[in-house]
Amino acid sequence: MDHFPIFLATAGRRIVLSGGGDAALAKLRLLLKTTAHINVFSPDAAPEIKTWAAQGKLTLIPRAMEPGDAMCAALFYAADEDAVEDKRTATIAHADGALVNVVDNLEDSQFITPAIVDRDPVTIAIGTEGAAPVLARAIKADLEEKLPSTLGTLARIGKTFRKMSYELPFGRARRDFWRDYYFNAGPAAMTDGVKAVQPALDALLDDHLNRKARTGHIAFVGAGPGDPELLTLKARKALDEADVVIYDRLISPEILELARREAIMLDVGKEGFGPSTPQEVINDLLVEHGQSGAQVVRLKSGDSTVFGRLDEEIDAVTAADIGWHIVPGITAASAAVASIGQSLTRRGRNASVRFLTGHDMQGFADHDWAALAKPDQVAAIYMGKKSARFVQGRLIMHGADQNTPVTVIENASRPDQRVLSTTLAHLPADLADAEMSGPALTFYGLAPRAASEAAATLITREFA
Ligand code: SAH
Repeated sequence: MDHFPIFLATAGRRIVLSGGGDAALAKLRLLLKTTAHINVFSPDAAPEIKTWAAQGKLTLIPRAMEPGDAMCAALFYAADEDAVEDKRTATIAHADGALVNVVDNLEDSQFITPAIVDRDPVTIAIGTEGAAPVLARAIKADLEEKLPSTLGTLARIGKTFRKMSYELPFGRARRDFWRDYYFNAGPAAMTDGVKAVQPALDALLDDHLNRKARTGHIAFVGAGPGDPELLTLKARKALDEADVVIYDRLISPEILELARREAIMLDVGKEGFGPSTPQEVINDLLVEHGQSGAQVVRLKSGDSTVFGRLDEEIDAVTAADIGWHIVPGITAASAAVASIGQSLTRRGRNASVRFLTGHDMQGFADHDWAALAKPDQVAAIYMGKKSARFVQGRLIMHGADQNTPVTVIENASRPDQRVLSTTLAHLPADLADAEMSGPALTFYGLAPRAASEAAATLITREFA
């Protein structure tokens, strides 16, 4: 950046210009927008300049510039349209201590005048350091079109209203209010004249204050086991409309991609016994964003009602009086059992199925092992890798058949899915050999259906 853009205070200061033709007129039209004292030196000024002088908008001195004429001037423009005269006047102004611009002569200028989009007090200056004036004009035209012509007036009125908007919570709610004012409600009110703007602002603030109370909402959405195609249509819709997405570690990137582009994405990943975002922090985040009026999607893997600590979050949200609903998802057990071509229940085999967790916050979880150890029982064990030896020990202790089939499905429904088919006797050793690092679901009492073995990616005898 060879030229540094600044906005110069002009009130009460002198700006001197030498010249009286077209170049002078073009610059003066811009300079007259300022509150500076403008002095023009020209023995032969265009009629328009004389008119401005008569109207008191500038001072016209009808002679060529002399040394001392630019004394105490902040800026000087050489607009003589004559290289020799420009050089002479620029030298005088320079000696008098003014910053010098020679019109259409970048090299001899100490500053340049940008292309300006004027929505006073909003002023946009566009500069290309002389490299691409055409581009500057195109950008200017583009901005002129985008910014309502009433923007300046709206900004001036808005400035006096700023304190009132503090009633809205800081951040998104306030930004939405101002955006609505500048681009919708404000310009609409201006069609009825400036007087209509203040009442429109009052009404808009009321509307936004109410809107806040009305719309803050949390959707607890089940994201399924990882395959984006296993999302429900409702889950997709919620992601599409989300302002904020608070998601867990197991949510796949392909699913996060589906969230609304503008959504704030917050990772609160938890990992087994490892590092985690404390539950209270997650609860606080839900409440904070819900209260700011955001559409929040709390995205949990699988189905959020299965080992998802959903109730704690619902309690926090309810206590803060924020609306919520649950969007069910496909739980890991459903995806995993599909991948081995089996049923969770089967007539004549098992009329019930248990969903167990291998460990809870206290450590390994205790269950009714005696009931589970009976023949033909089926259990889907979540978070069961670390507890495999513990589960095996308990079941055998309660009389379970050591040859009961056990199947571990890692990354169910994902491209890197792996299936380990083993027995209760071999479970801990085979699991250790398989070195599974992804989420894995263990089925006690189910083996992959023989007919589907070709379709499933099986790690079989290596570990059996
Ligand atoms: N609410 C989730 C479970 C969360 S607990 C659900 O309904 O699926 C996390 C455990 O779920 C993991 O330890 C693992 O046992 C299981 N899990 C989640 N996604 C899985 C996947 N794609 N494949 C296998 N197991 C998965």
